[in-house]
Amino acid sequence: MSTTTPEQFTFQAEIKQLLNILSHSLYQNREIALRELLSNASDALNKLRHVQLTDEQARGGADLEIVLEPDKEAKVLTIRDTGIGMTHDDLIQNLGTIARSGSKEFLNQLQGDSKNALELIGQFGVGFYSAFMLADKVEVVTRSYRENTGWRWESDGSGQFTIEAVEGEVPRGAQIRLHLKADQEEFLEPFRLKSIVRKYSTFIPHPIHLEGEQLNEQRPIWVEPKSQVTEEQYVEFFQWLKHGSTEKPLWHLHLSSDSPLQFHAILYCPPKNYELLGFGRVDHGLNLCAKRILVQDDNQDLLPDYLHFLYGVVDSADLPLNVSRETLQDHKLIPKLKKVLTKKTLDFLADLATEKPDDYRTFYSEFGPILRTGIAEDYDNRERIAKLMRFHSSHGDDRDAITTLDDYLQRAAEGQEQIYYLSGADLTSIAAHPLLEPFRKRNLEVLYLTDPVDEFALTRLDKYADKDLVSIDSSDVKFPASTDAAAMETRELPKNFQRVVELFRGSLDERVGDVRQSDRLTDSPCCLINPEGSLSSQLQKVLRQNQKDFQPPKRILEINPHAALIGRLCDLSANPENDDFIRQTARQLYATAELQDGLVSRPEETAKLMQSLLEDLAKSKSSIIV
Ligand code: ADP
Repeated sequence: MSTTTPEQFTFQAEIKQLLNILSHSLYQNREIALRELLSNASDALNKLRHVQLTDEQARGGADLEIVLEPDKEAKVLTIRDTGIGMTHDDLIQNLGTIARSGSKEFLNQLQGDSKNALELIGQFGVGFYSAFMLADKVEVVTRSYRENTGWRWESDGSGQFTIEAVEGEVPRGAQIRLHLKADQEEFLEPFRLKSIVRKYSTFIPHPIHLEGEQLNEQRPIWVEPKSQVTEEQYVEFFQWLKHGSTEKPLWHLHLSSDSPLQFHAILYCPPKNYELLGFGRVDHGLNLCAKRILVQDDNQDLLPDYLHFLYGVVDSADLPLNVSRETLQDHKLIPKLKKVLTKKTLDFLADLATEKPDDYRTFYSEFGPILRTGIAEDYDNRERIAKLMRFHSSHGDDRDAITTLDDYLQRAAEGQEQIYYLSGADLTSIAAHPLLEPFRKRNLEVLYLTDPVDEFALTRLDKYADKDLVSIDSSDVKFPASTDAAAMETRELPKNFQRVVELFRGSLDERVGDVRQSDRLTDSPCCLINPEGSLSSQLQKVLRQNQKDFQPPKRILEINPHAALIGRLCDLSANPENDDFIRQTARQLYATAELQDGLVSRPEETAKLMQSLLEDLAKSKSSIIV
């Protein structure tokens, strides 16, 4: 042991907070601490193996293994690995600060004692500190493969830790010595340790030894034929990949191929999309193996971004073992694997949708928002992804029903060249939009989009099965001739209608591109239409919010000569004294039409106008004196 006094350090504030929670937590499932430490040991061994592949100097030395050493007398459990080890500075950096940004969010969640947060304990990189759930003192004796000096780190989990040099020889790797709390001595029992390893660490790719016995099978189920893998094994493997999660995957896809690429893979879809819960992006990548040996545990180049939520392993015999992380990125096999994995996953989803529609719906409600960004990201697969999209629509009475683009086309009218959609903030406001009137009359279906991502996706897709995708607030809308009969009406225009149109034009000159007669509306007095080729109102709204200098195109106000209000304005326009009132009404109707799209461009003016119109209305009421 050292003759000098150990150096004293204080933990970063977040760690203190974390330690406080962990050491006082009543969390029952304390065995996860062991799982975390075994996983760290395994990572350290993976890192060493990787270094050894590319750096000759680092080769040789002790075999790669993990050993559990319970010492009943001293009440100490040691987890020893022959991995990469840590230098003095590594110790300060790795066991004194929380590097990952997610840790703060994790802390907030943990304080709320949310079940989900405990799920995330491993993913947020707080693993090592869970040792303090079991121990009131933790020692780490370690030597990095890069140097000869060994170091001892020690802490009782309150505010400080110490580091000192160790005299004499220290084996390469790390020994985590847990001085167990009085009520945690069960962790010295071999049968208990065995059951924990079996539960959480079966798939650790290095032998775990206890009293000379190897505890884990290290069975790479992904290279076995599907028929030989049980459902339970699939679930266990997923839980291991997800750092000891207790969740069950929504589905898994087991792939094996001999040509043109030789590979085995299992991909899993987790049951929940934590990104929807506001956890931010969960980045994790896939495990990449070469002939069953792990080369990289977080490869993010094997799947496109829109499938980044999948977990899994990919093993290819075509991959050389000694590739470094850096050259791996440029390795020509990766894009090829990515292409195949993507196609297989999309095909699998299409099958799932037909064979198990309820499962697919659950999947889509969790991961649909990520999946559909693929239409913009992956040009080659955009039709495939579009097929997987689901929409609410004006078809049928069931508000919750969803449809596919293919089903929509099945129901399309004869000669219908376009697929119609309307987006808005929510289903209720979309369904009440005046723009739907002509579609109802002609019995044409309109897709309802409540998420701007959907509309971006459809805009990028542009066409599906040769039909144009058109927002119904656009001048590009064309109605199929086969539906004209239903819309046919030979009502006469009210007298003075042209004069009303002129008054509206004069009043709204700066705001709209034009005012014209509407032949699409049935009941509502007016609606706003976008000029041909421009973005839909909802996309304009998104752009307005995000880009200060965005200039929305001037829209066209269509007025319905057969609406009661417009008819009355036509009557009033016979007397020029009413011109001002008609102009005012024009501005108010314009503001109302904007409101229906969720926009208010001049709230103060609209409010004032509304008040003065109400005032006029109030004045026109006769008061009855009794
Ligand atoms: P995570 O493993 O999620 O990064 P931890 O808190 O468990 O977070 O560990 C922090 C860091 O400490 C690890 O990233 C690693 O660099 C280092 N570390 C932990 N255990 C070992 C070990 N047995 N050998 C070498 N380094 C280790």
